Amino acid sequence: MGKVLQIGAGGVGTVVAHKMAALPEVFSEITLASRTKSKCDAVAQQIGGNRIKTAQVDADNVEQLIALINEEKPDLVVNVALPYQDLPIMDACLATKTSYMDTANYEPKEEAKFEYSWQWAYKKRFEEAGITAILGCGFDPGVTSIFTAHAAKHHFDEIHYLDIVDCNAGDHHHAFATNFNPEINIREVTQKGKYWENGQWVWTEPHEIHKPLNYPGIGPKESYLIYHEELESLVKNFPTIKRARFWMTFGQEYLTHLRVIQNIGMARIDPIMYNGVEIVPIQFLKAVLPNPGELGENYQGWTSIGCRIKGIKDGKERTYYIYNNCSHEAAYKETGTQAVSYTTGVPAALGAEMYMKGLWRKPGVWNVEDFDPDPFLARLGEQGLPWVEKFDLDLEL
Ligand code: NDP
Repeated sequence: MGKVLQIGAGGVGTVVAHKMAALPEVFSEITLASRTKSKCDAVAQQIGGNRIKTAQVDADNVEQLIALINEEKPDLVVNVALPYQDLPIMDACLATKTSYMDTANYEPKEEAKFEYSWQWAYKKRFEEAGITAILGCGFDPGVTSIFTAHAAKHHFDEIHYLDIVDCNAGDHHHAFATNFNPEINIREVTQKGKYWENGQWVWTEPHEIHKPLNYPGIGPKESYLIYHEELESLVKNFPTIKRARFWMTFGQEYLTHLRVIQNIGMARIDPIMYNGVEIVPIQFLKAVLPNPGELGENYQGWTSIGCRIKGIKDGKERTYYIYNNCSHEAAYKETGTQAVSYTTGVPAALGAEMYMKGLWRKPGVWNVEDFDPDPFLARLGEQGLPWVEKFDLDLEL
């Protein structure tokens, strides 16, 4: 049992707070802090029962974070703000000797660059302080990394080919909307593609490689090879992997809007002057797009995310597919958010539970696949994300 400080009260944060609040035997006290306190208050009110205390914090400001942590004295800080805040929050955790968890790797604001180097550089200092950092505990990264660790532990002697497949077959009835923070989402999907093959990274033009893949219960969906951050830690932690790729489905309408947004300069991340005020076009765009945390009401359909793996077991080649399907309607009914927030928030709350129970706790900075996947996967279905395994099938990849 322990006390948690959650930072971030957006779509993902709403789900994390719901799930943690439902487990008073694990999370004795919860403080929810964010830049806009009224959003924390709204989440706390929706959950009710005086389970959640709220606070205001600018998580870009290390001094403010240290003051808040010293006041609240949490056992664990759960960061579900934006990737820009990862390093300031890790600095504040180091200064106060408090453990840390997040769902997305650090990104500098001025460059859309996705890599773990900045956070891995904290490893020795976290070790010396005797505190744990758990990196990337959402769905992807997060559950996909844990699925891979489970496959390596239970079903393969060597994993050779890993394809992570992420399908959102839901319909939110908007011409264009992103399923998580628009700024982070657009930065991620407009970058060049990248995958691992034979010991090196291979770069592609954005969305250059694509093919239809069949998703269980959904059918064929055009899937695009993009770079995703868990590939970096997975090829390091499972060195038998010869090729690792990440595929995500996009509808034609989404891609057309994205192209227009880029062509007219609205995806720019550098500041421009507008009427004497400095603005960043992509941040302005975020202000006029639908709020991902509020897409849930009319969202219909399913997400399907999983790992398709080929490798060797007992000298024989084996193919394996492990996945979760999640319904947007069911996610909305339970937490008032859509399935992308839900599939990220449930694993984050569960990772925090693993820490509180002492099951995932070791000084240093770790990706989720560094921990035992068994207790996590034993609880994932109960927490709302059941998973399915299929053996010896055509992986289409
Ligand atoms: P939202 O934009 O909905 O929420 C972000 C929250 O962080 C808001 O409450 C926002 O406050 C707060 N915030 C932003 N800047 C600061 C700051 N400087 N100080 C304090 N609080 C701040 O994003 P999502 O909920 O959609 O995403 C949250 C995180 O989850 C992101 O890092 C995203 O990359 C990650 N993610 C991970 C996935 C995975 O599977 N691993 C999948 C989807 C998302 P305010 O309301 O004031 O803006």
